[in-house]
Amino acid sequence: MDGSFRIGRLFGIPILIHFTFLLIIPLFAWIIASQITTTTDLIQGIYHVPIDTSLITAGLMPYVLGTIVSFGLFGGVLIHELAHSLIAKRNGIGINSITLLIFGGIASMEDRIPDPMVELPMALVGPLTSLLVGMVCSGLVYIVPSVIADPAVAGVLIFVFGYLGILNIILFAFNLLPAFPMDGGRVLRAWLAKRMPLHRATRIAADIGKGFAVVFGLVGIIFLSPMLLLIAFFIYIGASQETASVKYSVLLQDIRVGNIMSSPVVTVAPALPVTRVIEMMYATKHLGFPVVDHDVLLGMVTVADVHKMPSIDRDAMQVRDVMRHGVIAVAPETPVVDVLRIMGAKDIGRVLVVDKDRLVGIVTRTDILKVVELKEI
Ligand SMILES: [Zn+2]
Repeated sequence: MDGSFRIGRLFGIPILIHFTFLLIIPLFAWIIASQITTTTDLIQGIYHVPIDTSLITAGLMPYVLGTIVSFGLFGGVLIHELAHSLIAKRNGIGINSITLLIFGGIASMEDRIPDPMVELPMALVGPLTSLLVGMVCSGLVYIVPSVIADPAVAGVLIFVFGYLGILNIILFAFNLLPAFPMDGGRVLRAWLAKRMPLHRATRIAADIGKGFAVVFGLVGIIFLSPMLLLIAFFIYIGASQETASVKYSVLLQDIRVGNIMSSPVVTVAPALPVTRVIEMMYATKHLGFPVVDHDVLLGMVTVADVHKMPSIDRDAMQVRDVMRHGVIAVAPETPVVDVLRIMGAKDIGRVLVVDKDRLVGIVTRTDILKVVELKEI
């Protein structure tokens, strides 16, 4: 993800931090510090353990504790994501990285069609790990008084463990909401996918996720909670993206570029006048042409390249003056899903198909979307 930098490696998985994470730590620390007495009372009430507050409230201590609890929370998020990743790895799914960001963590897995038999345990293990961490922290709350003699120091430890215990249990419960792409939504999809085709299961799970997003959004507006609005937005976008990606992966599986490419390709020579290219665009309705000289592919000229030239200059110009060198080409055997991914990543609308250095076809985003539409029937 853009705006992320690497902080290390755990179990061979690169751990990244998104810059929003650096904003949220001081914010959380400040929120925790400013509510320290209320929270201490709350923790006392929940665990039924008396807390000595003399050290907790002393001087800058609330901010120190706020920072420790914030880092502890993200440590909990990291353990949660690691649990997902380790189960994924054990099932042969590659994990590219884990990124910690404002909402928590995201484990970036290899793009593939999800298998419900693998997804179910993989989705469940995250929340269950959070529950375990929450229970361990809560257990420490009761052990501290018998191990630490100084009541003020014990108070600090009870506060930290008690707070982290509650946060990790919230993390457990929140992630189990059946709001796709949260873990609970994945569990729901895996359960549905055993009973119906994957893309239909995904759509149902995503629709339920969007329903949750709308409810969160409304509650967020009513109570003016920016955090809830952000979560609503995150769930809505995540649900939409997952539906689209699964739809394309399922409908386009087994289809190779060679099956759907347009061939033969209309090409232009580097010496062709730009005005002539524009006429060809009008005539053929193609908005880009490969530039070929004596069977050698040199590059590509698209309507965007022509557009960059002021119209008075176009008369004197040739294709070689405006063309783009270095084109993105794929082999006919390439799966169409991969081409769609390349187009998305490079923000291009067409990819050339090259077989043993010979231009054999061209495939556009529109061609692929037409195939998707046909497959949906
Ligand atoms: Zn999770």
